[in-house]
Amino acid sequence: MGQRSMSSQFLQKARLGELDTLREIVQVVTPRNASVDLIDLLFNFITINGVPVLERSRHDLVSAAVAAARPTLCLRALWKIVNSSDRLKPDVKSALVQRIQDAGGDLFDWTRFCLQTGMLCISEDMLTQRPPSRLEQYLLQADLLTQLLQLDSGCFNALTSSCEFVQLFVELWTAKSEPQHGNHSSITYRMAFVGPSTICPILELASTVLSEEGSRDLLFSRFDSVKSCEAFCQAAVDRIRDDRENNTVPGWIQYFLALVAILTNLVRRSHLFRSQLTHLSYLTELCVATSRAMDVTPETKGTARDLCSGMMGIFALAMDRGSRQRLHRNWEHLHNGQFLQILFRAAAALEPEDRQVREHIISTVDSIGRATSSPKLFGGSTFGSPWPSLEAFKRYPTLLNAWKRLLFLQDRAREACRRLETRPSVFACDYQHCYRSVLKGHEMPKQCAGCSSVVYCSQKCQEHDWKDFHRNECLHANDLHSRLAHSKTIYDHDTRASHIALLEVIVSGMRSRDSAPSDHILTIDLDAAGDGSPEKVLVESLSDIRETCARHLPAYLQPRVVSLFEEYHGRNFPPNWRLIKGVFSPFTDNHKTIQLILLLKPVEDGHMGVYCIAQYQ
Ligand SMILES: [Zn+2]
Ligand SMILES: [Zn+2]
Repeated sequence: MGQRSMSSQFLQKARLGELDTLREIVQVVTPRNASVDLIDLLFNFITINGVPVLERSRHDLVSAAVAAARPTLCLRALWKIVNSSDRLKPDVKSALVQRIQDAGGDLFDWTRFCLQTGMLCISEDMLTQRPPSRLEQYLLQADLLTQLLQLDSGCFNALTSSCEFVQLFVELWTAKSEPQHGNHSSITYRMAFVGPSTICPILELASTVLSEEGSRDLLFSRFDSVKSCEAFCQAAVDRIRDDRENNTVPGWIQYFLALVAILTNLVRRSHLFRSQLTHLSYLTELCVATSRAMDVTPETKGTARDLCSGMMGIFALAMDRGSRQRLHRNWEHLHNGQFLQILFRAAAALEPEDRQVREHIISTVDSIGRATSSPKLFGGSTFGSPWPSLEAFKRYPTLLNAWKRLLFLQDRAREACRRLETRPSVFACDYQHCYRSVLKGHEMPKQCAGCSSVVYCSQKCQEHDWKDFHRNECLHANDLHSRLAHSKTIYDHDTRASHIALLEVIVSGMRSRDSAPSDHILTIDLDAAGDGSPEKVLVESLSDIRETCARHLPAYLQPRVVSLFEEYHGRNFPPNWRLIKGVFSPFTDNHKTIQLILLLKPVEDGHMGVYCIAQYQ
């Protein structure tokens, strides 16, 4: 029957639903001999009975198998037609597209039914293994769906707006594979194919579903709680771990990059998926998989470049600036996966011609360096294991310098964290004209009961300050305090304390007293890092700073700031006190830089910030 269409007599017989005739159709049908009549016939059997609901008794399963006999045979014929559909005649193709637009739901539901029950909906001559493995069926099914998506734009739209299609995709994505050779009990194998020349068809399908607005919305609407997307996310993470066993195979890196792109899409588009994936420590898993790939992948040209691209993708995922806590946790996950060590190794293996990737790495390393200006977020974790010699970068001076800068900044951030932990238990009196410091434990400091934001060495100082300033501040300060407690993204006390500690470390490292005359103050701008230097240090005129304070600080703080500046200008403070300004980059999405005006007093081994006013602009 090969090239010619099937005779009308033959189709007439098939219309009666004779199983043998339908079986014969499965055997002889090709994209070439398919006709409009045949397409109609196949779809009639696929749509005539509803798809049985699974999860019932065994008896039901038997009757379901009977009900599925004809639709299953028709599916086999149909998927054969879809395979290499580029050879379809135009009228047959448009009939196929039309029926999929009208009744695609049944087609996908039956296919899902077959995958779940183990009934074959793919013709045996398309499967190479005897008996066909689940893995082979799932991969081929995903491939057929991808071919269907490419059939025609109308078909593409019908699929990506179909709930049943998305359900079928979820089945393909979440299904587990038979255990692979050996017993790797800790890993659940997913239907995933890593081969030298093709991307896993299930990954390819996932990329399409996630990149189209319609199907993505349908997918997300199926999951309405963190719990409900657990299985989907677990399947994604299992795919990363799965790779860990497979990543000696050529082609693994392309698979890995596709997976990173899919995860990026999930994390960026849905906070539920982001939470669930984070809960599963996907960033750590990605780092560990990369690290293993580097251990086993033979050095071939381009491998290091691809691995570096993957690492950049992972880093971009981690730099979630939406909230301080998330950023901190992501960073810990990267650290647990030894992100920096892996990046270092991958960068060292780059070829001279990989100039662009190298520049990308330099900018990443610089942004990690900038992030250490919030020591509480990034500086606390140690990047423990010994670094390979920086000699590896000798060939690339700009990369070498970036890495040296990072190591320097990390040391400094660590020092700031250490200071926070071992702070001498000294506090300074908050009354501006009092120069006393109090050693905790010796005298009880007097804290303002109204706002808890100021402390004094004595009741006398407290009374003076109340009269001069604090009576106008207390209510506002109390207000701010309760707002801080309830906000997740606002600049919190801990982060501010770590900023102060970092400024202390920087100032302690400066030799002479600030070179600024009394009408200027030293500004340490950590937001302007770059051009090879970790920060920008300049002097700014006091009147300029007063002006910006007048614009950005709340009115109740103005009298105190003005008085602080006047005391400084009039040289009324002891000569070893310093007034500085620190500028920090925003670490949340509000895009406002943080500016701190800090008064520093000398203590045992350096300086200590006693008076700090924060403003955003
Ligand atoms: Zn005092
Ligand atoms: Zn108060």
